[in-house]
Amino acid sequence: MNNILIVGGAGYIGSHANKLLSKKGFKTVVFDNLSTGNRELSRWGEFVKGDLKNPADLLRCFKKRRISAVMHFAACAYVGESVTEPAKYYRNNVANTLNLLDAMRAAGVKKIIFSSSAATFGVPSEIPITETHPQSPINPYGRTKLMMEQIIADYAAAYGLEHVFLRYFNAAGADTSGEIGEIHHPETHLIPLILDAAAGTRKDIKVFGTDYPTKDGTCVRDYVHVSDLAEAHALALDYLVKSGKSGGFNLGNGRGFSVREVIETARKVTGKAIKATAAPRRPGDPPVLIASSARAGKILGWRPALFDLDTIIKTAWAWHERRIP
Ligand code: UDP
Repeated sequence: MNNILIVGGAGYIGSHANKLLSKKGFKTVVFDNLSTGNRELSRWGEFVKGDLKNPADLLRCFKKRRISAVMHFAACAYVGESVTEPAKYYRNNVANTLNLLDAMRAAGVKKIIFSSSAATFGVPSEIPITETHPQSPINPYGRTKLMMEQIIADYAAAYGLEHVFLRYFNAAGADTSGEIGEIHHPETHLIPLILDAAAGTRKDIKVFGTDYPTKDGTCVRDYVHVSDLAEAHALALDYLVKSGKSGGFNLGNGRGFSVREVIETARKVTGKAIKATAAPRRPGDPPVLIASSARAGKILGWRPALFDLDTIIKTAWAWHERRIP
């Protein structure tokens, strides 16, 4: 196996995949424009500063080294921003993915693992969400992820491209060594914001919606550890290489926690009082998202190891505490 190109490998999930693949003995090349990624998170393999919007950056990258497979993590991923700035999302996510796929074609690279999302399903009609659930996203972010899946599938049919779509539910936690973790500017995700409140760098956590049809009125999500997601990439690569087959897999723990339950668990784990304030619903939030990952278990052999919410929050807190100024 030659190099694995990790596009967006300086980001949150990409950096965990880079670490894991490197530890497993793969040669990795991170390609990242550092617009949202962080150079300090790209600590393994080779680093190439390049931009998907510049075909020349990609051509150079593919020309200089032999690449066996691509993992594509690079995308804008804020639902709210995608509603107010759709142009940014269609250009960065969809148009730039075309550049990547065309560079792969030119270089004869035939394997891609694509970071997709639970957001492609929209408001679910059935819980847990399996791979046969209809995909009808309710915001531009989810639509870009679905379009990218469709484009990859069309390229596969026409040009021969083996592909795996990994649809993450709520990625959370941090590498257990504390070397890498979540850094977003601005931060919008629930767990890091709760931990800001625990650390005292934020006065409270706003609970977006308390009148949902759920056990305590707050949204329910399936939180999955980022290192377990990284492991799914290694298994997907193995699957592509050994079977030559393509497919999509939902990745979650199959258990839902409400916003209030997450806050309560964070209070317990951190030992801090965390003030929660009720706030209006955030547009575009489905009440409940829970994955069925039975297919990933059966076909990829994926078994999340850090599935416990306490563990997820503990690892996130260890990373968070280290970064408090
Ligand atoms: N959420 C919240 N307050 C916040 C941030 C998020 O109540 O400050 C809720 C949000 O409405 C959703 C859940 O927490 O129901 C998870 O949101 P997050 O942004 O972490 O992930 P998403 O589900 O959007 O991928």
